[in-house]
Amino acid sequence: MSDDEQPGLSRRAMLAGGVAGALGLAASRAQAQQAEGQPLLGNPRLPEPAGQRMRWAIVGLGTYAVGQIMPAFGDARLSRMTAFVSGNPDKARTLGKRYGVSRFYGYDDYDDMAKDDEIDCVFIALPVGLHAEYTIRALEAGKHVLCEKPMASTSAECEAMVEAARKADRRLGIGYRVHFEPTNREALRRIGGGELGPLRQIRAEHGFDANPDWPPHKWRLEQPLAGGGSMYDIGIYGLNTSLMMLDGDKPVSVSALYAYPREDPRFSEVEGGLDWRMTMASGLIVSGSSSYCYRPFASRQTYFGAQASITMPLATTYYDNTLILQDGGRRKIGAGTPASQFAGQLDGFGEAVREGRPHRTPGEMGLRDIRLIEAMYRSADEGGVEIAV
Ligand code: NDP
Repeated sequence: MSDDEQPGLSRRAMLAGGVAGALGLAASRAQAQQAEGQPLLGNPRLPEPAGQRMRWAIVGLGTYAVGQIMPAFGDARLSRMTAFVSGNPDKARTLGKRYGVSRFYGYDDYDDMAKDDEIDCVFIALPVGLHAEYTIRALEAGKHVLCEKPMASTSAECEAMVEAARKADRRLGIGYRVHFEPTNREALRRIGGGELGPLRQIRAEHGFDANPDWPPHKWRLEQPLAGGGSMYDIGIYGLNTSLMMLDGDKPVSVSALYAYPREDPRFSEVEGGLDWRMTMASGLIVSGSSSYCYRPFASRQTYFGAQASITMPLATTYYDNTLILQDGGRRKIGAGTPASQFAGQLDGFGEAVREGRPHRTPGEMGLRDIRLIEAMYRSADEGGVEIAV
């Protein structure tokens, strides 16, 4: 997902509401968050003094890192930036001035971070094809790593990343920010609390129109840097978010069909669209679609229950997620400021590291998702056959 696909309010406006919203958390929600063992949006704790916050290096100063992650440190209470890694030293220094960051690395002297005591955690915001290499090198340099989604190009790479974290005794997390996003946490609370009755179906639709002339979309259309196509980049939100809502239920099989114009020259290396279906152990069907070739941008989740349903017309965006409960009537439910998800995931990861607690979005979750998508691709290659997972 990219900046220009985000509908709605300015970040400044959202931030203005963010802190107040976070501090206004109902006591029961704050307690539930603490019981779960991780801070959430605008952590209810007071900010820590700068010297005690987790210190982060940001790797790859592109659209997402500059547009969303760096500003989020302004909302973070337990995290601060100390280093930038970039192939463009001028850009890094300009951003360094803006954020008070004075330690700079390139991709060649990246491993020197091992000697840098001012870095605890590394945030990988590179194209997908580079995730495995730079994650493993950071782990070997003794740093904890939060790597952007999708975790890597192949499940074999994901396995190597998990193993590198185990060997280095460092923490590896995946940047599934939705797990820290208040509207989705509210949906989870209601679904998990049985408000919809037994779930009957989940539907997930995520897509946008890829622009091959825009650099952040250009690499998304090149297999070596992208790993996969629309399902890797945008469909994964639907897959991962749906699974987030299904406590204890596990996928047992998947099937998929490609869904894009084959003659479209953008999609010679990666798929432009995928329609997928996943059967859970409970028998529940989760189905969805991903696309690089329609407008407008879609980020839609629907949870159909026997008693009621939740529709999220915007479910996984940066700033505008909405939850509509349909239980005979139709109620729009506010749950907090979506933008707080960025700071929430940074602080959540740092706190899990420091306190030795499980992280909400571990490397194993990223590996699970890539294995599922690989099985979907296998199914689509064979005309939609059901594949056991
Ligand atoms: P960009 O292309 O905007 O940024 C990637 C950056 O990586 C570049 O600016 C560059 O930074 C660095 N880079 C190093 N080598 C290469 C290369 N060969 N080609 C291109 N860039 C290179 O991409 P995005 O910011 O959109 O995506 C980065 C990551 O973030 C991806 O993994 C993506 O999936 C993820 N993402 C996650 C989102 C979320 O909501 N969780 C949303 C958007 C993206 P430099 O010049 O500093 O070296």
